[in-house]
Amino acid sequence: MKRLGLLGGMSWESTALYYREINEGIAARLGGLHSADLVLASVDFATIERLQVAGDWDAAAAILAARAHDLELAGAELLVLCTNTMHRVAPQIEAAIGIPLLHIADPTGEALIAGGHRRVGLLGTRFTMEQSFYRDRLVQQFGLDVLVPAELDRETVHRIIYDELVLGIVRDESRERYRDVIDRLIAAGADSVILGCTEITMLIGPADSAVPVFDTTALHAQAAVTRALA
Ligand code: GLU
Repeated sequence: MKRLGLLGGMSWESTALYYREINEGIAARLGGLHSADLVLASVDFATIERLQVAGDWDAAAAILAARAHDLELAGAELLVLCTNTMHRVAPQIEAAIGIPLLHIADPTGEALIAGGHRRVGLLGTRFTMEQSFYRDRLVQQFGLDVLVPAELDRETVHRIIYDELVLGIVRDESRERYRDVIDRLIAAGADSVILGCTEITMLIGPADSAVPVFDTTALHAQAAVTRALA
């Protein structure tokens, strides 16, 4: 079994989900008392969030690259960056390490294609919904058509992530807001929805959407299990 390197803390709420999902995945595949061989580097999210808001992606990249290098020195053989948004700086992280990075959009794109989906709605932070780093990978590598919510809906989705979900706050009222946004994506032609922020799975599940939802946290963690055992 390969040693996984988890780069988390963005937020720790979702990193905890990765830890559980990966260990459950290893136990399901190997049985008995088996559990994952992994090392975790967890950053202070307040620092990262400040840099996101300031648009100082280079400073954030430098912090994450240094921590990824720590993981490599600790024996990690595969890097799992436990956030969609910070894949914005995946190229800088990859340049700083000698181990592969498992990009979160890849298992997600593969699952969408395997399910026969073509036109996917994307929910995430405004960085993930509005910038090109995530959408372009889905378009270029998987040929998907990616829809994002309208501006007011993007604001709502983003605000609920940063004001509630990363703090572990899950409110029925916010679930209703997300359901409305999903309904509007479906009305615009979406045949599927990406939960493209690793905390959204705390709020939204398959029952909240008339089309299939793709949980990036679970898909990324399961792909890490497969790679660890390959
Ligand atoms: N965990 C979230 C994501 O998957 C948002 C927090 C962050 O900005 O890293 O995008």
